[in-house]
Amino acid sequence: MMNLTRQMIEIRNLLASIDHDTIKLPSIVVIGSQSSGKSSVLESIVGQEFLPKGSNMVTRRPIELTLINTPDAAADVAEFPALKMHNLTDFQQVQKILFDLNMAVPEHECISNDPIQITVRSPRVPDLSLVDLPGYIQVEAADQPIELKQKIRQLCNRYLEAPNIILAISAADVDLANSAALRASRVADPRGERTIGVVTKVDLVQPELATAILTNRKYPLKMGYVGVITKIPTANKTSGSLFSRKTVSGYQAYVAQQNFEYNYFKENKEEFTGTTTGTRNLKKKLMKVLEKSMTASLRPTHFAIQQELEETSYQFKVEFNDRPLTPQMYLANNIDALKLATKELSHHFSRAELKSLLKNELDQKVLNLLAERYWNKPFSLKNSNVVVEPDLRELSQISNIDDDTYWHKKLDLTTSSLTKLGVGRLSTSLITNALVAEVENLVDITQLRNHPMAKAAVKDAAKSVLGAKYYSTADQVENCIKPYKYEIEIEDREWQTSKENAVKLLKEELRQADDVYNYLKKLIGGRKLQQVVTYLEKLNQNQSLDLDLNSKEALGFSPQLIEKGKEAIFLKDRISLLKMRYLFVKNSKKCKKKENKYQCPEIFLDAVSSKIASTSILFLNVELLSDFYYNFPRELDLKFFTNLTKEEIERFAKEDPKIKKHIELQERKDLLENAMSKIEGVLAIQRTKKTGNDSG
Ligand code: GDP
Repeated sequence: MMNLTRQMIEIRNLLASIDHDTIKLPSIVVIGSQSSGKSSVLESIVGQEFLPKGSNMVTRRPIELTLINTPDAAADVAEFPALKMHNLTDFQQVQKILFDLNMAVPEHECISNDPIQITVRSPRVPDLSLVDLPGYIQVEAADQPIELKQKIRQLCNRYLEAPNIILAISAADVDLANSAALRASRVADPRGERTIGVVTKVDLVQPELATAILTNRKYPLKMGYVGVITKIPTANKTSGSLFSRKTVSGYQAYVAQQNFEYNYFKENKEEFTGTTTGTRNLKKKLMKVLEKSMTASLRPTHFAIQQELEETSYQFKVEFNDRPLTPQMYLANNIDALKLATKELSHHFSRAELKSLLKNELDQKVLNLLAERYWNKPFSLKNSNVVVEPDLRELSQISNIDDDTYWHKKLDLTTSSLTKLGVGRLSTSLITNALVAEVENLVDITQLRNHPMAKAAVKDAAKSVLGAKYYSTADQVENCIKPYKYEIEIEDREWQTSKENAVKLLKEELRQADDVYNYLKKLIGGRKLQQVVTYLEKLNQNQSLDLDLNSKEALGFSPQLIEKGKEAIFLKDRISLLKMRYLFVKNSKKCKKKENKYQCPEIFLDAVSSKIASTSILFLNVELLSDFYYNFPRELDLKFFTNLTKEEIERFAKEDPKIKKHIELQERKDLLENAMSKIEGVLAIQRTKKTGNDSG
C-alpha cells in the first residue's frame, strides 16, 4: 500500500498545474546561508550530486524537488515534468540542466517566481517534497535595490508560510546566534513549531560543543535539531580518512560520506547521547514530520478541493451548459463540419455553375478580341500613306459575304486566337482558384475561422490536392478542345442562343462605354470636353495631329486635358460602332443564319466560346473535381490528425479565447475530480486504520 505522504504528494503534483489559493499541502522548505552546507544536505538526502555549483552560484529560482521512493528500481532517475524530460539517469546532465535553468534568469532580475520542478525516483530516497529556496539570506544582506529585496522577501515568505515545514540549515562552526536561517525561520514561525534545525559540519567542532547546540536549549525548536556530516572533510586531520573529494564522486562519494558520518557518530557515541544525529535519522525525521503534517492537512485539503470543485462545476454548468470539450473533440467536430460542407459544395457547385464561371471568363476574352480586331476604328489619316483598312461599317453592307476574303480571314484569325489562347491552363486555374475560394468560404462558416493557422492549413490542403492534378488536367483539357482549332460545327439552336448572348454582351459593353464617357464628361465638364474634342477633331482634319498634340500647351489646353479629349474621341467612336453592331446583330436578318457568320463575328465567337466552355468543364468535372472531392477530406485527415501532435492540437484549440476557456475549465474540473477521488481514497484508508486501531 502506498503511504500517505506519497499519495498526498501525488495529489499536490496533480493540482500544481492549476492556480488556486485555497489548497495547500505541506512541503519542506530548505533555507540556509551560503556555505552553511545547504546543498550538501539536499544532496545527501537525495544520494546524488545534482545541484549546480561554482563560485557565486546563487539559486535564482525555487527548486521544487519531489522525491519518490522506488524500492525495486535498478537506477536513480530524474525528470523535469514541465520540460517533458523524463528518465534522466545521468545526474551530471541533471546538474547541467538545473544550471542552465537557473542562469536563464537574468542577473539584474536576481530572482524568478517561477519554480523549477524536478522529480527524483530512487530506492534510496524517502517520499518527500522539498523546496530549495533562492538565496534568501545572502540576497538579504547583499547590496540590492529595495524593490528587488522586496520581491525576494515576498517570494520566500510565501514558501515559508504554514503548513510548510522549514528546514533551517546552520553550520556547527558558526555561532547559532549568527545563523541567518534560524533568524529567517523565527520570523515566519515565531513559536518554533514548524522548524527543524539542521546543524552541519559537526565534524568541525568538538563533540561537546556540537551536543550543546543539538540539545536545543539556546534556541528551542519543538521539532528539535539534527546534527549531520554531509561532506567528508577534504583534508581530514582528526580521523585520518583516505577519502578525498577529488578522488570520489557520485554514488561512491555518497557511500563514503554515509560511512564517514556513521563512523564519526559511532566513535563519539557517548558525547552525542540524547541528541539526534546522522542523515539517515534526518531523513526518517523528515518523513515522519511530513507525514504528520500531511495527515493534519488531509481534512482541510479535502474540504478545499471540494469547494474548488463545486465552484468549478457550477461555473462549467452556467457558462458551458456542462457540455464536454477536449481539444481533440473540438478539432474533430470542426473538421467533420468542414467535410460535410465540402460534400454539400459538391452538389451546389455543379457543372452549370462551373460552366457559367468559365463562360464569363471566355466572354471577356471574346470581348477583348472583338475590340482589338473589329471595334477598333483605325485612325484613317486622309491623304497619307497609311493603308486604310475597311471600316467595320462596311461589314453590314456587304451583300455577298461569301467572296469577301478580308472578312473571312479576319474571323478565321480571331477564332484561332480564341481557341489557341491556352484554354487548358486558363480553365484549370480558374476552377482551381474558384474551388480554393469556395473552401475558404466554407472555413468561414465553421469555428476554424477563428484559427489563422488552421485556416491556412485548410487552404494549403485544398491547394495541394488541386495542385497535384493541375498540369495533367490542363494538358488534357487542352487536348480535348483541340478539334475546335480546326473545325467548328454549329447547330441552329446553338446559333440562336449565341445570338441572344451576343446581343446581351453588346448591350452591356455599350452601357459600360456610355458610363465611362459620361463619367469623363462629369469630370471635365461637358462644355470644356466638347471644346477640346472639337479642337482635336479640327487638328485631325488639318492632318497635323502628331505635331501639335506633342507640344505642351495647345490653345490653352493642358496635356492632361488633351489626353482626356483623345479618350473622349475614342469612346465616342467606340460607342457609335457598338451601337451600330448592337442594332445589326439584334435586328438584321443576316444574323439570324449561322451561314452568315463572317458578318456576325460577335455571335460566332460566342458560339465557339460556349463550346469550349462546355467541353472543358465536362473534362474538368471528371478529372479535377471528382478527384478533389475524394482526396480533400483525406488530405484534411492527414494534415489535422496524422501530422499534429497532442500539444499542437491543444495549442490550436486554445487559439480561440472562448474555446480556451471552455477547455481549461473542463481540464480544471477533470483534475479536481481526479484529486477529489484520490483524497477520498486516502481518507477511506485513514478511517479503516483508525477503526482498526480503536478496536485493537
Ligand atoms: P551551501 O553553499 O550552503 O550550499 O554549502 P555547500 O553544501 O556547498 O557546502 C559549503 C562547503 O562546506 C563545501 O566546501 C563543503 O564541502 C563543506 N561542507 C558541507 N558540509 C560539510 C560537513 O558536514 N563537514 C565538513 N567538514 N564540510 C562540509
